[in-house]
Amino acid sequence: MRYDVVIIGGGLAGLTCGIRLQEQGKRCAIVSAGQSALHFSSGSLDLLSALPDGTAVMQPVDALAALAEQAPQHPYTLMGKSCVTQLIPEAEALLSRSGLWLRGEGSDNHQRMTPLGKWRPCWLSPADSVTRGLAGTPKWRNPLVAGIDGFLDFQSRMVAGELQAQGIAAHSGDLKLPVLDRLRQNPSEFRAVNLARVLDQPASLVGLTEELMRLSHDNDAVILPACIGLESSAPLEQLRRALGKPVGLLPTLPPSLLGLRLYHALLSRFRLLGGMFMPGDRVLSSVQLPQDVAIYTHNHGDIPLHARRVVLASGSFFSNGLVAEFDQVSEPVFGLDVYFHAQREDWSQSNVFAVQPYLQFGVITDNQLHPYIKGQTQPNLYAIGAVLQGFDPLQQGCGAGVSILSALYVADAVLMEDKQ
Ligand SMILES: Cc1cc2nc3c(=O)[nH]c(=O)nc-3n(C[C@H](O)[C@H](O)[C@H](O)COP(=O)(O)OP(=O)(O)OC[C@H]3O[C@@H](n4cnc5c(N)ncnc54)[C@H](O)[C@@H]3O)c2cc1C
Repeated sequence: MRYDVVIIGGGLAGLTCGIRLQEQGKRCAIVSAGQSALHFSSGSLDLLSALPDGTAVMQPVDALAALAEQAPQHPYTLMGKSCVTQLIPEAEALLSRSGLWLRGEGSDNHQRMTPLGKWRPCWLSPADSVTRGLAGTPKWRNPLVAGIDGFLDFQSRMVAGELQAQGIAAHSGDLKLPVLDRLRQNPSEFRAVNLARVLDQPASLVGLTEELMRLSHDNDAVILPACIGLESSAPLEQLRRALGKPVGLLPTLPPSLLGLRLYHALLSRFRLLGGMFMPGDRVLSSVQLPQDVAIYTHNHGDIPLHARRVVLASGSFFSNGLVAEFDQVSEPVFGLDVYFHAQREDWSQSNVFAVQPYLQFGVITDNQLHPYIKGQTQPNLYAIGAVLQGFDPLQQGCGAGVSILSALYVADAVLMEDKQ
């Protein structure tokens, strides 16, 4: 099995890189061990919402120079301001070609509503989510925040209370939907994605519409937990037309329907372009051969995948792309050089709301995103996305941006090298 590029990890970074390479005629395989951060994400994508010193960022592109001063190892700094600025619209176009309808732009952050009714700055949001600061977003005076009876992953009263505190005359109410009774018998199955599988059925949609008409009589908009429209926005669109008012979705606890939509759209695009996706397989090791790299996976045993180049997109601790041992942090596939603090007590802060140093740990690279082994740069290996060092996706609000932009940056480097 020979490929131009083997990508390790099928999350946001790996899929984006694979799509770009397939679009340009490369033959790629993505080996992906398990679920990625997308399965847990809000579906909204962050670019940069704060500098390391805490300064809030509303214009991410304008803040890149200050970021470079404060965070010399940040992936955006390594890639350079002009490259990052150029890749932002290219990323937006790639997402749109993948069939995703996302709103927002890199020049200005907008705000999206969190599952608790608070606002968080971000770059791109699914058109179905609840946002403010985007052109054409209607101002809601008295929305209904509708929960689902028995669904504990979304607290409508809490969201409505938060909106009231912001001066918005929100009301809460719980939908009684007998069509969900069978699912309700097993609390562990009463989750967003399973609810959507039922509610997306045309017959269920009728009951949901009637119940919402009854509850939202006096409201100018409806906010629902993201439990409808698993495959597409079509059921939600139908609901909007029937109610004659805007309906927006808020992300729920995982599995996240809005994150899953991103994952499925990117995966479909990659496959449509002829990419090979190997789910449920794990890369265990590799051997550098004179002409290429042999990649050994759990499922393929002693039959290696061969590739001229390998892209590591295995994520951070959450996806086992980084592993924390008692006295060190390691990268398990290649044994790459990893940045971490020598003293374990410096890895985290006891205040869980404080900035956590371990979030900046990750694989060390040069400006081309080639990693190192024992100080030696690896010319046919690249690292992208959450496995990289030097940024804090939580405090700096830059997780998706780093994954997507580093993926495009590396794909372009591969394409450029092959042209030379
Ligand atoms: C729970 C959570 C929620 C988040 N929500 C948001 C959000 O709403 N918005 C935002 O902007 N950012 C969010 N982030 C930040 C997030 O890190 C990035 O947005 C981005 O999705 C990370 O993508 P990635 O592809 O780099 O890594 P990941 O998504 O972690 O994907 C890595 C993939 O590699 C696979 N893998 C690991 N090791 C191997 C191996 N040896 N062989 C094969 N496969 C392997 C894993 O199984 C996984 O599928 C979130 C992060 C987390 C952890």
